Order: sequence, then structure tokens, then C-alpha cells
Amino acid sequence: MRYRVVLIPGDGTGPEITEATVRVLEATGVKFEWMEYLVGETALKQKGTPLPDEVIEAIRQTKVALKGPITTPIASGFRSVNVALRKALNLYANIRPAKYMPGVKSRFPETDIVVIRENTEDLYSGVEYFMNPETAISLKIITREASERIVRFAFEYAQKEGRKKVTAVHKANILKYSDGLFLEVARYVAQQYPDIAFEDRIVDNMCMQLVQKPELYDVLVLPNLYGDIISDLCAGLVGGLGVAPSGNIGDDGALFEAVHGSAPKYTGKNKVNPTALILTGAMMLKYLGEAEAALTVERAVRKVIAEGKFVTYDLKPNRDDPTAVGTSQMADAIVKVIKAGI
Ligand code: NAD
Repeated sequence: MRYRVVLIPGDGTGPEITEATVRVLEATGVKFEWMEYLVGETALKQKGTPLPDEVIEAIRQTKVALKGPITTPIASGFRSVNVALRKALNLYANIRPAKYMPGVKSRFPETDIVVIRENTEDLYSGVEYFMNPETAISLKIITREASERIVRFAFEYAQKEGRKKVTAVHKANILKYSDGLFLEVARYVAQQYPDIAFEDRIVDNMCMQLVQKPELYDVLVLPNLYGDIISDLCAGLVGGLGVAPSGNIGDDGALFEAVHGSAPKYTGKNKVNPTALILTGAMMLKYLGEAEAALTVERAVRKVIAEGKFVTYDLKPNRDDPTAVGTSQMADAIVKVIKAGI
């Protein structure tokens, strides 16, 4: 059996971490047919558009994609390709696990949280305008349908993964209509999962609690904007962007990408940490039904990081450590562990 997967190397350091990830995934013995597509700056230069229609069409067919980061110019040029892809493919759930790994610098080694972020609406609906030259308006759109879909997804995920509690995060005390609706729906859905504990937290209190006692939290479910912010906070709890994987899931397919961006200053330098995309690849393996291979990749990554020898600069106690290895050498070490059998 060979899995057909759309592969988007992306911009900046994307091609380097994608190459590293492909090698690690193939080392598990799982067979892939990679269908490579250009998206982002490179696609804009070569094809005149950052997101060619053929890419969306290809993902609709394969139903699964692995993507490197895409550079989004600030306040000019094209809108985010990432947001466009999630919308076009209706990838409504963004899953971002934040689990501590020995060997990664973190003040919160007890952390094991999964953030589930609604991906299609809220302030990311793209409905914004200038009422007059001095006043800009962005609309926060929350629907019952999308709220119910994401909260149900969170409970189903918790059930499947043997997790104990779902916490809904909101600001319903102030945003009584939009976040009020999200909370009302969350409470309604929670009643249908009596085996999973449920609670809610106001988003500002949630931020404080996460940096005081992250061990109290398990699965968080949030509307889009809070999800974006809190998931980075949770990534920070366990060592930052270099180790943070993510998956965007819909009913008809999924797109897997690291949380971090294209780190353009390191392009072509064989410098950045491939861990986030490799763990993202492990999430993809699990989604494809290759749970054993996914576990093998996770264990190999953990082993290499815990040993601390063949790791990139950001995983060394001192970032100028001359013994830090490059992207490709860290991938080599992970491949070696997988091939040796763990
Ligand atoms: P970034 O994540 O690229 O970089 C932030 C910091 O983290 C930098 O210091 C960078 O060097 C470091 N870093 C990032 N990834 C790393 C890794 N794997 N290993 C070690 N260090 C790493 O964020 P940014 O600088 O805000 O964004 C750069 C570009 O990426 C922007 O155009 C942004 O829009 C885009 N972006 C894309 C995605 C995506 O495609 N999913 C996500 C976030 C940002």
C-alpha cells in the first residue's frame, strides 16, 4: 500500500525541513507517493499566483497534504495562503499538541495539552472594512453550526485519545452574543459526553492559569483567534516553535503543517530545527492509520532530543554551541534510530 500525499515544500527554510521530514517518514517503511506542488512566494514567481487552483484540486483528490511554511508579506501582497487553504478545503479543526519532551528547555515539564482551534470563522472570516478613513471594522462571526462542529470534534478527539477533560475557552462575559453562543453550544455538546469532564474558562484567566498550573489542563477548545494565540502560548510552555506540530482536519481531508513560519533569515543555511515538521509528519501517519509508525517517529525524535548530541542550535543549552548540528544531520540521527529499531 502506497499513500498518495500532496507535498508542499513552501518558502524560506520550508524545503530543507520538508526534505528532512520525508526522509524520516520513509525510514519507517511506510510507502508514499509524494505529489509535489509549489505554493507561496515561489509559486507567485513561477506561476503568477501564490495558490494555484491545481493544488487545491490535488488535495481534494489525495485528501491529505504535508506542507512546509509559507511566507506571507505583511500588510501588502497576497493574503495568507494558509488561511485560504484551510477555507477552500474546509479544514475546520486545527489540532496543536503541546507535550513536554525531555531534553527541550522548558519551565513546565508537566505540560501535556492539546489545543483544538476552530479554523474557519471568528475574526478570521475576512469581513473587514473602513467605515471612514479613521475607523476600521473587523467582524467577529461565530455560528452555532461551526461551534458545535468544533466542540464535538474536541470531545470525539478526547474520547479517542483517552483524554479526561475538555475546557472551552471564551470571553462570553463581555462578548455576550458571539462568545456567548460558543459557550452555550459547548455546554450543550458536553452533556452528550458524560464520560469526559467539561469546564469553561475566560480567555484572560486561561492565559494566567496556563503559565501557573498547565498540568491541570488536557484538551482545550477555542474559537479561532483565541486558539491562534493560546496555541502559541502552549508551544512556548514546552520549548517553543521548533518543536510544535499541527494538523488541520476537515471531514474530507487534512493538511499537516508545523506551527512555525518560514524563518527566512536561515534559508539555505541547513540550520533550523526539523522537529516540528517531523512530529507533524507523525500526526499525519496516525491520521493515515499508521499508528505504529507514528509512535516509532515520536520515540526516535524523543531519543535524539533527550541525548542532546545531534540536535540543532535551538535545542542546545547555549544557542552558540559549536557542536549543534544542521537540519539534515538531525534528520540523519533520527533516521538512524528508526532503522536501528526502537
Ligand atoms: P517564524 O516562525 O518563521 O520565526 C520566528 C522565530 O522562530 C525566528 O527567530 C525563527 O528563526 C525561529 N524559528 C522558526 N522556526 C524555527 C525552527 N524550525 N527551528 C529553529 N528556529 C525557528 O515566524 P515569523 O518570523 O513571524 O514569520 C516568517 C514568515 O513565515 C512570515 O512571512 C509569516 O507570515 C510566515 N508564517 C507562516 C506560517 C505557516 O506557513 N504555517 C506560520 C507562521 C508564520
